[in-house]
Amino acid sequence: MHNIGIIGAGVAGLHLALYLQQRDIEATIVTDREPGDYRTAPLLNTVAHHNTTLEREKALGVNHWPDMDDHYHYHDHWLNFPEPINFPGHFKKPSRAVDYRIYLPALMDDFESRGGRIEYRRIEENDIPVLADRFDLVVVAVGKGPLGAMFEHDPAESPYQQPQRRLSCGLYTGVAHANPKNVTLSLTPGAGELIVIPTITFGGMGTALLFENVPGTELEATVTAKYENDPAAFRQVILDALERFHPSVYDRVDTASFDLCQPVDILQGGVVPTVRKSYVEFDNGKYAVAVGDVHVTVDPVNGQGANIASYAAFQMGREIVDAPVLDRRFIERVDMARNDRCLAAARWTNLVMPPPSEEFQMLLGAMSQNKSLCDEFTENFNWPERQWDNLGSPARIRRWIERSTMDRAAE
Ligand SMILES: Cc1cc2nc3c(=O)[nH]c(=O)nc-3n(C[C@H](O)[C@H](O)[C@H](O)COP(=O)(O)OP(=O)(O)OC[C@H]3O[C@@H](n4cnc5c(N)ncnc54)[C@H](O)[C@@H]3O)c2cc1C
Repeated sequence: MHNIGIIGAGVAGLHLALYLQQRDIEATIVTDREPGDYRTAPLLNTVAHHNTTLEREKALGVNHWPDMDDHYHYHDHWLNFPEPINFPGHFKKPSRAVDYRIYLPALMDDFESRGGRIEYRRIEENDIPVLADRFDLVVVAVGKGPLGAMFEHDPAESPYQQPQRRLSCGLYTGVAHANPKNVTLSLTPGAGELIVIPTITFGGMGTALLFENVPGTELEATVTAKYENDPAAFRQVILDALERFHPSVYDRVDTASFDLCQPVDILQGGVVPTVRKSYVEFDNGKYAVAVGDVHVTVDPVNGQGANIASYAAFQMGREIVDAPVLDRRFIERVDMARNDRCLAAARWTNLVMPPPSEEFQMLLGAMSQNKSLCDEFTENFNWPERQWDNLGSPARIRRWIERSTMDRAAE
């Protein structure tokens, strides 16, 4: 029977630990944050789970937020040209967002209440050899933490050395939602994107506003303004940014009640998209393997990081269950199982960082006219490898548009 050590209790570490626990494989989580630490922590991210991830939660028995009123059903696109273009794309099944400061401790409690062991301490690089002696496999799921640097950077899959967007994300009150709910994708050429996500917060349903600002634009003010220095001035910066660059979202704001849900509900900065090699071999012949953001970090614009982390955790879990020995062949099988989706998510996200190519502009135009094409694009947020099948080269994008145009003519 394998004995697995998992460093980190984010979505990757927890979904893997719960998966193994269900199959009676011994798994110990070692992590630096206790469940009680999350209640007052600053915002971690603004994560939406697509339906494929919700299905994995159901399989793990951790879907604590089943109320359909809290789910969203489509993407509402706004292309902010002088004449704005607005069109929806529907999912086959709904998605949902829960503040991770609620989500992660709930799953930690699930794991512990079912008999799982979590050790609370920070692991440094010099602790790793001890863990390599103790466990048959060390799974490193520490997110963007420095420990991830133990895995070699993969330059072929990591085209950027700097964040491609300046991020300002917060949880807000005072933003109206449609019924049924949607995620709004507001795109302003040259300025960036705004993603509006109905989110379950500590205070009930709220709204995540994720500004994905192109560096060097006026919208940087949403990243540099500090709520704690002057809440009213901060609010005004956000309102001005909405009114000027994302007017359809501004129209949904009740300025009297618009505010951060809590003063700590703000995160500002940037993400360097990075892919790392997936394993390290120790002198004793055992392995450390990377999962989640340690392996593939993407900019959040397409909402893929946590979804592929959960997927990768399940693929790794299945291979652990099946492996007679946790050796190089095991690692190879893990990589074959997860990489098509994980690398597709990274490549698709990296593709949409620069100004859109001629083909991508054609695709957006076609989506605005062709609902079934837009629905397929939207549904593929669940299936990044299918998205990449259609977006992987300019010729594929053109072919996809042609195919969907012919399909429509034949209807
Ligand atoms: C603004 C923003 C919005 C996002 N939106 C989405 C979205 O809509 N959809 C989506 O799929 N993804 C989204 N993401 C990405 C998503 O947040 C990450 O991909 C995901 O949370 C990564 O999970 P993880 O388990 O790999 O790492 P993490 O969640 O970072 O977990 C790491 C764990 O390791 C622990 N840890 C760290 N260092 C150590 C150490 N040295 N010793 C012990 N423990 C340690 C931490 O405490 C934590 O428990 C977003 C990210 C951001 C920043």
